[in-house]
Amino acid sequence: MYTQSGTVKRGRRHWYDLAMAHALVLNATYEPLSVVSIRRAVVLVVRDKAELVESSDRIWSSERMQVPVPSVIRLRRYVRVPFQRRVPLNRRAVFARDGSHCQYCGAAAENLDHVMPRSRGGDHIWENVVAACRPCNTRKGDRTPEEAGMVLTMPPKVPRRHGWLLIGLGGPPDPSWMAYLAMAS
Ligand SMILES: [Zn+2]
Repeated sequence: MYTQSGTVKRGRRHWYDLAMAHALVLNATYEPLSVVSIRRAVVLVVRDKAELVESSDRIWSSERMQVPVPSVIRLRRYVRVPFQRRVPLNRRAVFARDGSHCQYCGAAAENLDHVMPRSRGGDHIWENVVAACRPCNTRKGDRTPEEAGMVLTMPPKVPRRHGWLLIGLGGPPDPSWMAYLAMAS
């Protein structure tokens, strides 16, 4: 009943492609669960698997009906999350946490740096990995920041619990999500 190419009508003349837009999915308990495409969110709402919690002022149109474009939906049934999800430690995730800035000088980051070098027993864990630019990475080499006379802007930490939801969005999250993400962290 919904066409493959979802379009949104704003005013009378402007149609927006929603291919890149997302909705936040909450568990029945309001715990943030995942991020889905707008089309998927509309299907969940129309099939009554989820309720609309927050919507934008835009309208999703199909041949049969019009519904407000969801920005936050809540599942009607509780979904058991079997284990504490961990934020995967990889380049993309570290760059997301560090804003793609070198944590020593603030320049655009290109590498990952182990604060305590791996060759000296440093672990590959969130608390020991930062984004770094190439010059800082080279300058530091096999030394600790103290030995190299370098200072971290802030000590690296495990990202906030729901930070992984936002990785790969390709843009800032919808402002309407923030209350739900903050409530859960
Ligand atoms: Zn740097």
